[in-house]
Amino acid sequence: MTDRRTDSWQGYDFVGGHIALDLVNTVSWRLDAAKLVDRYQLPGFLPLWLTRAGLVRDDAGSSEIVTALTGLRETVYRLLVAPDRADVARFAGYLTAARRRAVAEPSLPLRWTVPIERPDDVVHALAIAADELLVSPDAALVRQCSGKGCGWLFIDRTRNHSRQWCSSKDCGNRERARRHYRRTGKSRATTVEDP
Ligand SMILES: [Zn+2]
Repeated sequence: MTDRRTDSWQGYDFVGGHIALDLVNTVSWRLDAAKLVDRYQLPGFLPLWLTRAGLVRDDAGSSEIVTALTGLRETVYRLLVAPDRADVARFAGYLTAARRRAVAEPSLPLRWTVPIERPDDVVHALAIAADELLVSPDAALVRQCSGKGCGWLFIDRTRNHSRQWCSSKDCGNRERARRHYRRTGKSRATTVEDP
């Protein structure tokens, strides 16, 4: 059984290793204009994503935040792949708004979270989460998938920093198949499918 909500999930997974990267990865085929999909524009995806990310228990108000969430997502993406002053300033704006809503338990180290009490708190919570990544040493381990056109980001936690693919099942397989067919000259029709 499938429905619109789960259809919109097809090909998506939480593979980034950090919620800020899973946010960025809600755009599929980012580096291929012909195939690019912004999943937040697909019916049913955003409420499902918010629920599965543990940010909300129901989808009330999720349509109100698409624009703000998309703005944050694209700012975080650019900061991770090619930071410039304008995006740092833009992100500071998101962070200032988020900090007004953030609370922490009185124990060290302080850990700021945003209780989700109204729809835009989701944007604030993700801004705080993105900041945690951007100021941490993990930011230097963020890589972009080597799959042709993919564009997904992930944290490379391999010992020798050799991870190439968002997912070895998807882009890794596709690329191995592509190389194999290039070597053997065989048709690629039977064992590999493009999404
Ligand atoms: Zn990939």
